Parts: sequence; C-alpha cells; structure tokens
Amino acid sequence: MAKALDDYEFKKILRFLKGIRGQGTELISIYIPPDYNMAELANKLRAEYSQASNIKSKQTRKNVLGAIERILQAIKGIPKPPEKGVAIFCGNIATQPGASDIKLFIVHPPKPIPVQIYRCDSTFFLDPLLEMLEPDEVYGILLVDRKEATLAYLKGKRIEIIQHRDSFVPSKHRAGGQSSVRFERLIEIAANEWFKKIGDMANQYFSDSKVKGVIVGGPGPTKHYFLDGDYLNYMVKKKIVGIVDTSYTDEFGVREVLEKSGEIMKELSVVKEKNLMDRFIKEASIGGLATYGEKEVRDALLEGKVDTLLISEKLTWERVKYKCPQCGYEEMVTIKGEIPRKTCQKCGAIMQVVEEQDLIEELAKLADETGAKVELISTDTVEGKQFYETFGGIGALLRYK
Ligand SMILES: [Zn+2]
Repeated sequence: MAKALDDYEFKKILRFLKGIRGQGTELISIYIPPDYNMAELANKLRAEYSQASNIKSKQTRKNVLGAIERILQAIKGIPKPPEKGVAIFCGNIATQPGASDIKLFIVHPPKPIPVQIYRCDSTFFLDPLLEMLEPDEVYGILLVDRKEATLAYLKGKRIEIIQHRDSFVPSKHRAGGQSSVRFERLIEIAANEWFKKIGDMANQYFSDSKVKGVIVGGPGPTKHYFLDGDYLNYMVKKKIVGIVDTSYTDEFGVREVLEKSGEIMKELSVVKEKNLMDRFIKEASIGGLATYGEKEVRDALLEGKVDTLLISEKLTWERVKYKCPQCGYEEMVTIKGEIPRKTCQKCGAIMQVVEEQDLIEELAKLADETGAKVELISTDTVEGKQFYETFGGIGALLRYK
C-alpha cells in the first residue's frame, strides 16, 4: 500500500478518535506491544473490571464495565499481537447526556508500540500514536562560535547531542589592551584550527545519507564566517536548510534551534509542494502532461497514464454506491456532505446505499494499483489553495498523453 495512503488513513482515524469526548472518565485506551502476552492482558483487564465496580457514578460505571467487556471479547480474537502490536480504543461515544453507544476501534500502528498502556479517561489517549507521525528523517544541528561548538541530531522532535567542544581560542579583546599584530595573528591561527576541527566533525557526522538536512546556528556573525570558509565539505554544505541566530552554542542553543526548526521544516515541505504545484499548473495550462477533474483523473488512472496523483487534503467527498432492491440497478456517485435519498432510474423504487468510500482513498488505491505516486496537497500555500479552488482539488501529472 502506498505510504501516503497509509498515512492518510492513519491520520484520519486519529483525527476521529481525537474528537471524541466522554461524558465521564469512561474512554479506555489500550496499547499492546508486539510479543505481549495476551493472557496477561486479559488478567489485567479483569482486575480493572473489578476496580471499576467501585466507580460512584452509575452511568460512568456502566459504560466503563461495558467497555472492558467489549475489549475482553475483542482480544479473544487476537491470540497474539500483530507484528507492530495493536492499539484498542473503546468507550461510550454517544454525545447526548445519558445515552450510551459503546464502540470499539482497533488501530494498527505504522511503527511498533513500545510499551503496554491502559488508560481510562474522558478522552482517548493518543500520544503514542501521534508520536509515530513524526518524521523518521534525521537533521543535523551545528552550533558554532569562537568559544564553543555543539553538534546534535534532531530526530522528529527529539534532540540527541553528539558532541560538545570548548575551544582554546583566546579572546580578541584581551584584558590589558595588549594587541600586537603578532598576537592577533596567533589568535587567527588558533581560530582557523578550531573551525577546521569542528568542520571535520560535522563532515564526519552529517555526510551520512540518513541526515536529510543541516541547520547551522550560533550567536553573531561567526557562523557565517565559518560557512564561507572551506571547513565543511560539499556534501554537508549542500544539505544546509537553515541558518539561525541563537543566543547560546550549547544544549540551550540546540533547543533554540528546535523552537525555530518547525518553521524551517514546514518551509521545506512547502517548497516541495510549491514545486509540484508549479509543474502541474504549467502543464495543465499548456495542455501538456497533466490533467484534472474527477472523471478525467479517474480515467487516466484506469489507463495507467498517471505518474503522480495530486489530491487536495481539503476534499471531503465520498464515493457512494446505490443499488435498487427491486430491479438490481446500480449507480456510483460522488457526494459532498450528506448522502441524499435516490430513486431508481429504471423502476422508481428507493435505492439503498450499499457502499461508501472516501474519494481520496478510492483514487489513491487506483493509483497504487498502477504504480502511480500519491501526493496530498495542503491548502497552506497559495498554489495549494488555487489547486483546490480552480482545479477542484483533483489532478494528475501524466506519464504520457
Ligand atoms: Zn429499480
């Protein structure tokens, strides 16, 4: 399955679960790591069940007990956890006070679940799954001035300090005002040695292909002087995605970079999206290797002509299949919003909805079957907005016409 589609479906269920509020502390979240003993989990749940019998509120007690029963039932069908473990969410999702509608959701995570968790709260506990949405990419952070330097990796939102070094470069403004030409020359030689050492370290750690970008920081102009010099190799220089001012060159400085890096990362994905959109709009406007519109794109997908499927994240359309219970006549329609009632064209009977699918998922699956790439386009950029408003949010870059 295409990764973009997996991510999309995963995000969709998370968004849905995030929106659910319990009427009391009655929503249960369970995380089961791979290789976890299911019999042990059942025991734990039975213990939670007897604890829950003490809950004061009658309504909450009823819902919690009901949810635990549902979970116990569900895990009977799971003799051992799947490869990456599994997360189960269960509770009363009815929005009307006093009403009860206990639902159970099983979520297969994109990454292994690290630790077993049981939570009962007024919301579902989603943090471990939300963390899995963090990118795998590693960024390098280099902070440098004349006194010290720090190298770190940025993995998602996590910082890993690689090295911290203090220099022995004397200060230019030495007490006593001694400032002969010879003394300044010595300082510059020491500074050059220092920058060389830091450059070598950065080259060693950041040349690795897993490092997707490098951010350079530090106070004042020293970092620019360092970058203009020949201290970093071509590979690492090419990876520089941002230069930021920080007050510190130690771990505090790394945290400053992290605070500012959100913007840089966002810009990176924005740039990628802008480029994609520029290409699409240019091709579409000259009648080149691009097409748009639901029918046109679906046809192109079915013919295997699509190189990259472009879909606006803002699309909330559904593909709905109606079937006539009397004569069997079927119809597929794309619907935005509420699903309307439909009468059969052939015999006039009221048709039944027999299938509902998110339009994005339907098209992404078609793309996947023909080896086309799928790119979800945000509406954060001018081009992304234009794509949604002018081109209807469905487009494709074609392999051929
Ligand atoms: Zn009919």
